[in-house]
Amino acid sequence: MKNPKKYLLYVLYALIVALLFGFLIWLGHFKAFQEFTSKVEQSSFDLRQNIISKYKKANTDIVILAVDDATYEYIMDKYGSWPISRQVWSEVINSVEKVKPKFLIFDLLFVKPNLNDVQADKNFVNAVENNKNVYLSMNFDNYSDDIRKSKDLDEKLRLNIQKGYLQDNEYVSFINSRMIMDDLIKATENIGIINVTRDNDGIIRNTTPIFKYKGNYYPNLSFIVALDLLGQNSVSIENNNIIIDENHKIPLDMTQRAILNWYGKRGTYKHIPMWEVVKSIKNQDFEYLENNFKDKIVYIGTTATSLSDIKSVPTESNLAGVEFHATFLNNILDNNFIKKVSPEIDFFVSIVLCFLVGYIVLKTSSVSKTIFFLIGAIVLYGIVATYIMYKWNIWISVVLPCISIIATFILIYCEKYLLKSKDYEQTYKLAVTDGLTQLYNHRYFQEQIINQINNFERYGTVFSLILIDIDFFKKFNDTYGHQSGDCVLKQVANILKKNSRTSDIACRYGGEEMSIILTNTNKKEAIITAQKICAAVRNNKFTLANGEKVNVTISVGVATVGKDGSKPQELIEYSDKCLYKAKESGRNQVVFEV
Ligand code: GH3
Ligand code: MG
Ligand code: MG
Repeated sequence: MKNPKKYLLYVLYALIVALLFGFLIWLGHFKAFQEFTSKVEQSSFDLRQNIISKYKKANTDIVILAVDDATYEYIMDKYGSWPISRQVWSEVINSVEKVKPKFLIFDLLFVKPNLNDVQADKNFVNAVENNKNVYLSMNFDNYSDDIRKSKDLDEKLRLNIQKGYLQDNEYVSFINSRMIMDDLIKATENIGIINVTRDNDGIIRNTTPIFKYKGNYYPNLSFIVALDLLGQNSVSIENNNIIIDENHKIPLDMTQRAILNWYGKRGTYKHIPMWEVVKSIKNQDFEYLENNFKDKIVYIGTTATSLSDIKSVPTESNLAGVEFHATFLNNILDNNFIKKVSPEIDFFVSIVLCFLVGYIVLKTSSVSKTIFFLIGAIVLYGIVATYIMYKWNIWISVVLPCISIIATFILIYCEKYLLKSKDYEQTYKLAVTDGLTQLYNHRYFQEQIINQINNFERYGTVFSLILIDIDFFKKFNDTYGHQSGDCVLKQVANILKKNSRTSDIACRYGGEEMSIILTNTNKKEAIITAQKICAAVRNNKFTLANGEKVNVTISVGVATVGKDGSKPQELIEYSDKCLYKAKESGRNQVVFEV
């Protein structure tokens, strides 16, 4: 290990990241936080869908026979009643079938027989019965106070699941069936379910491919069309995927629904207005019918905004339900459903990003550069997430990673600044300390004496200066060696520290000379301290490098501000003179006057 402190720091950062995740998990227990994050995540999904749907092509074989606003006007003008009579529908089926469409799929419910027009109902049932490519809709609900009895459904409408099962939940399991005309159920087995489900923000992103009713499975309308198109009559469920065949499977999310991949806005599939179709049938205009319906998969449904069949989906706030069903079929045929990655993978991606961001924050010194990097990282992540959705139909979370990126950034940044200031303190301490004695050095001494003079001038705060010189130290060095001399210097320094207050500033003045600035100390007190120190040295047994014990003495000079001088130089000179006098007078003593 080259630098253990550095590794320790990395451990500390790893700990911060771990703490952060702990915090996020804790936050995740709050409903408001969950709702907030899921809302943002869903919005980010919608944004990605909006972008990538521009680069996707919808299946042009799918068209919509649109019961639009103009059709409502037309029918009311020509027939004087609404909804469109079943007689008209039977004529539409019979005429369009002449140009051989692939499928006619009704996203409309034919619930009750019309007792005023029994013949029209009969004709419609016949048209359905005679054309095996006509598909009808039915739906379920969960209203327990419904007046309807939950009826058994014909066995032929069930879906054959070879292997696997679906978990029950509110999107899959239902208690009532909105029955359509009995005669229609007898006439065909091509009946699919058309329930749609919204997310909690009211937007439709998912669809339920298979429903459960009274213990049996029933397919979604588009799902049975797809099975017929792909020549399958059963499916299996493996690892939360509905397997249709080798090339077509539907991944399911936690709610057992499939996440749709959108091809664009309203009108993605060609709309053929119903009124034009009715008119061309009247006029025997088969060219019109052939141009629009030959070989087409025709969805028939309401697009009229006045009939309020309005859904909001990621790419559009107004979308007819029939377009939603068409999109589902298109997704099955293109095998391009969105797969949401598991929370574990989202978690893993977030941790990797945390470490990456943490590392960069540590390595980058400028704040603006780091913030620029942070924004760049989030934007880049968004672009990558969008590309992954475009290329592989995978929905990776953006909210959790982005929260993690920002939180790591803030935490590591704070930590970095705290450490930096600690570093600064340490550097400063090193710069003002003498390495041998651990007393303050000469530079600090000079700084502090100026400070003290300033305080004295401003507030009249008195202070004193003690100057200390070891006696016969040259000789001492010659006798015991320089190393022992150093030992003595250290021990004298310790005696100084021990005998002064924390507010006093003990320094190594130079060589074997030391000094103490005694703050808030007058001459009398300073003399007492000086004598105490002089005696302490005198009475101390100094241990040498070889363990030998010897005596050492010092000479001390004392000066006090005001009396003995009012400038740093004057005070130093005065104490130096005292010191000189002490030497002259036989050393091992304190002198405070010259
Ligand atoms: P006196 O002060 O009593 O007049 O005699 P002295 O021999 O101590 O004379 P002076 O103060 O002029 O001598 C200073 C000596 O202190 C010179 C040098 O050998 C010794 N000295 C100075 N700095 C160090 C140091 O960092 N380590 C050691 N071991 N000796 C030092
Ligand atoms: Mg000296
Ligand atoms: Mg000396």
